[in-house]
Amino acid sequence: MKVKFLGGAEEVGRLAVRIEEKDTSVMVDYGIIPDKPPKYPLPPEQVNGLFLTHAHLDHCGAMPAYYHSMETSFNSTILTANSIKPLLIDSLKIAGIEGYPRFFNSDDVSLLYENFNEARYGESYDLGNFKITPMSAGHIPGSTMFRFENSASIAVTGDIFTRDTRLLTGARPFKTDVLVIESTYAGKNHEDRDHVIARLKSKVKEVIESGGKVILPTFAVGRTQELAMILADTGYNISVDGMGNSITDIYMHTDGFFRSPSEFRKGIRKTTRIRGQRMRERALESDIIITTSGMLDGGPVLGYIEKLLNDNKSAIFLTGYQVENTNGRSLMENGTLKLAGTTVRPQMQLDFFDLSAHAGHDDLVSFIKAVDPQKVVLCHGEKREELLPDLSQYEVILPMNGQEFTV
Ligand SMILES: [Zn+2]
Ligand SMILES: [Zn+2]
Repeated sequence: MKVKFLGGAEEVGRLAVRIEEKDTSVMVDYGIIPDKPPKYPLPPEQVNGLFLTHAHLDHCGAMPAYYHSMETSFNSTILTANSIKPLLIDSLKIAGIEGYPRFFNSDDVSLLYENFNEARYGESYDLGNFKITPMSAGHIPGSTMFRFENSASIAVTGDIFTRDTRLLTGARPFKTDVLVIESTYAGKNHEDRDHVIARLKSKVKEVIESGGKVILPTFAVGRTQELAMILADTGYNISVDGMGNSITDIYMHTDGFFRSPSEFRKGIRKTTRIRGQRMRERALESDIIITTSGMLDGGPVLGYIEKLLNDNKSAIFLTGYQVENTNGRSLMENGTLKLAGTTVRPQMQLDFFDLSAHAGHDDLVSFIKAVDPQKVVLCHGEKREELLPDLSQYEVILPMNGQEFTV
């Protein structure tokens, strides 16, 4: 079997992995690095099918570019397919506003949907010489690991989380000869999630009872909904703004992906979903505002921060990884961010809560050992080698972008 990363091998972002055996080849993910301007993977190469693990831009952001030059089937869960539409349209809009080069247009997005083939967890199907089995990756709703079987089997996890959360059941191990797995958190473990949630709730209470408001800048896909569920039983007024609402609408209409659909709906119904400028004024009367963007680089969150800028009773609580060169990273490191081109120093309180949806170091090792493959291919990480001492019994490959190798 031949494997080649067109992106995402030695970096977090723009994952694109091509797998070929005999006459059949597939591409798993075709994402971007959401930089300014976004970074794309190597140009598309002919394949018999595209497979998308999940609806994050670092996995899906370049996928329509494939349809600019060729047509092939697009395989993902229905929830992933529906969730990427607002993200892709929005990234086209931003590229237009910022003058970034565009590698696809809205016709290519339509073509992608015309070629859609629904993947269902646990239901195997054939494509060329491959028997394909989609499985839940536990990372965000709809996220999928794909196993491709021919004379041997190879599986790609995409991003993976192995523990159960309020929203999802964690990824479960399975049999495969070759395991291609992400390694974002190689060398790092997460604080226990229950402790993080308890600390978040108690800090939220502290801020609100002392007369402040809590702004939670958050990613639209998965995190917005998880936070709404976590905070729904606090009894405070919660407003949800930004693209997270479009994703929530999609989630509300798609069954079969949540650990407890009734708990999910119950949590969402306790929040007020903000639509339009008029509601936005009123949202400032609520105790908690959950809103995009998660790294403070646009979206309604900046408007709310601008209003509360000098209110030292209010707080900004970050819950996700903050990429370099983003407002979120600048806020964490220097206490400043850019609002409409001007650098400001909010007087608001600031805290970080690790609600990552990526498996930590020890969980990655346990998962790999439970799968027990012959070969392990580590990707989607900057410190992959930190996993090597714990995987000494396996043949481990650390691929580089653009390099083809045989497994
Ligand atoms: Zn992801
Ligand atoms: Zn990723």
